[in-house]
Order: sequence, then C-alpha cells, then structure tokens
Amino acid sequence: MNVRIITDSINLGIPDTIKVLVQQNGHAGRDLKMNARGWTYVEPAVVALAQEDIEEGASQSQAPKKNTKATKNSTPQGLTNSKSKHVVDEKVKAIVKAHIQGLCIIVKLNRFLRNVGDTAHLPCEVAKRRLPCSSCEPFWNAPYPAPMPPGYVVVPILETPTANDLDNKRQKITTAPLPTPLVKKHRLHAEEMLKYFAEQRLLAKDTAHSHYAPVLDFWCGVNLQVVLDNFHLLCTRETINLVLGNWIYLEKDGDALFLLAEGLNAQYEAN
Ligand SMILES: [Zn+2]
Repeated sequence: MNVRIITDSINLGIPDTIKVLVQQNGHAGRDLKMNARGWTYVEPAVVALAQEDIEEGASQSQAPKKNTKATKNSTPQGLTNSKSKHVVDEKVKAIVKAHIQGLCIIVKLNRFLRNVGDTAHLPCEVAKRRLPCSSCEPFWNAPYPAPMPPGYVVVPILETPTANDLDNKRQKITTAPLPTPLVKKHRLHAEEMLKYFAEQRLLAKDTAHSHYAPVLDFWCGVNLQVVLDNFHLLCTRETINLVLGNWIYLEKDGDALFLLAEGLNAQYEAN
C-alpha cells in the first residue's frame, strides 16, 4: 500500500517483530511534510509479560542471583491471550517496557534498527522530533493510558463541594506572599485541565443547550485566557468571585473551579 495521505496507521495487537511494527506504522506519513502517527494497541497479555519482566528486573537487583532462573522459566498465571503461549520477541517486549517505564520509544527503536544520527539516542523533546513518542508526550496530553508520575494530584472535577468542605478550606487561608503567574508548562497543563473541566461541567448540566454548546461557551462572561492569566490567584473562593465576577456559571460552578484551581496550584508550586 503506497497511499501518501494516510495520517494514522493503527496496529490492533503488537506485531511479532519490531521490523514489522515499523513497517506497519510506516504506512502513514509517506508525505514527509505531513504529521502522521503510528498507533499500536498492545494485548493485555503482552503488557503483563513486559510488566513481569520489569518487576523481575527490580527484584533481581535486590535478591540473590540463584532465584532468577526459576522466575524466568515460569509461565505467567491467568493469561489466556494466545500471545502468552509463545514467547514474545525480546525487542518487541522491550518497546512495551519502554512505554510502561516512560522511556523514549524512538530511542529504543533507533538502537534496535541501528539508526545512527546525531539525535538518534536523544529523547523526542531534546531531539526536537515533530511529534513526540507516547513516552515523551506529557502524560496529560496522551490519549493512551500513559502511567501517571508518582505524587501527581488528581483533582476531583464532577463533585460539587459542600459548604463544609469550603469552610474547612477557608480557615486555612493565611496571609502569604502573592503567588506568581503560571510558567508555560503549567499554563499548558492548566489549559488542558480547564477544557476538560468545562466539558464535564457542561455535560453535567441538564439543559439541551449545554450538551451541544461549544466548550468555550462555558467561560461566557470571562474567557479562558483571562482564567489562565489569573489562575495562580484562584486559590480562594473570594478571588474567584473577584476575578471572574462576570462569569455566567460563577454561582453554579465557582466552588468546583475553586477546588480544581486550588489542587492544581498546589501541585504547580510543588514542582
Ligand atoms: Zn520519545
């Protein structure tokens, strides 16, 4: 197949060798001026094997060596997928392991395929690849289940906080130096979170309009950029009233926005 306009190539199940994997994904992006992606859905059994390898590696570095042979030959329990019956190619498994561990997949592929070049050994961001691989893309952008970094705060979005929750939060407010505006990385993250927040809150409303409204309508009366410019200040319910006074959903969604902004700001401060 040599069609130049394919932007996405999708593998259902990981191919047996990395050569086939690269060849399959290579069906997309024949036109080098276009952005193209190769997707691979990996069978749970293969993920389990890769995960087992990682755990085995971790325990090997702690346990005495004589234990390793027994674990290596043992068959994983409870795997019914046909891939578990035959051995998964080590290089294929290494690619899945890289995804689980958040290591650059392109670097691994370059090594296996002996691709040389000044940037072949560098992760996507440093190598300035036009589209990052699934490991290098910030995990909140990734549409695939990328592992969440340890210590990451998951902020509740749908629950509307009770008066008690808010009173508890208010009591903690003390006078402190004014926070600084978000750095670019955090601003991008906050923007994604606010879009998701808007989507979820609109869906939760029971008017027909809100279900079909463009997400940006949610910020009617203010706008998303204003929210982002002032995001670092949205750490009290009072500043939300002040900064977003004209926002049409201030009354209904202000408390939920407060909890979101408070959680995210705390997270950004810690990083
Ligand atoms: Zn990468």
